[in-house]
Amino acid sequence: MRRLAPGRLVLATHNPGKVVELAELLGPHGLEVVSAGALGLPEPEETGLTFIANAELKALAAATASGLPALADDSGLCVEALGGAPGIYSARWAGESKDFAVAMARIHAEMPAGASDAAHFICALSLAWPDGHVENVEGRVDGRLVWPPRGHNGFGYDPLFLMDGHTQTFGEMPRAAKEADNHRARAFTLLLPLLPPA
Ligand code: IMP
Repeated sequence: MRRLAPGRLVLATHNPGKVVELAELLGPHGLEVVSAGALGLPEPEETGLTFIANAELKALAAATASGLPALADDSGLCVEALGGAPGIYSARWAGESKDFAVAMARIHAEMPAGASDAAHFICALSLAWPDGHVENVEGRVDGRLVWPPRGHNGFGYDPLFLMDGHTQTFGEMPRAAKEADNHRARAFTLLLPLLPPA
């Protein structure tokens, strides 16, 4: 296991929301966060077949191009009755216009009658160094789908997902409550031993 030294860290994402969320988490560890977008790094095509493979290719591309360590994430919703779909294609199911009402309706339409409504969110985080060394972690939360979608908080598939032990969907939960314990938070906890001490 390799531990990151304090200093600059590239966030291999062009999503400003993810940059803000991860910069907040990384700040106390003496890491100065710079986004791949701000460095003008190209966005690699996500050709991997797993969350980890996609996170890893994004992190490695950013680390090699910038000469700095880089952190990337890849996440999505997996529906048991759909064989894990939309999974790594979660963003793509929303189409060019990123319309998640369409993506949620597609999930509902494709559910076989009487099928289990079990689902889970996954978040893979990959930390890569310019010499090609990579460390990967993965966080998961289990729950079930509701229909119709509930709530207007959050993003993506949040209104469709009820985490086990909760009565509010991710779309109904206040932001702080959702961020305190979700797949991204769980992945980040697994990453802590690799970061400089807070
Ligand atoms: P990525 O940016 O390629 O990792 O795509 C992740 C996609 O998965 C997002 O566009 C969302 O649709 C979905 N997703 C991941 N995490 C969440 C979450 O916490 N809530 C709702 N949707 C999520």
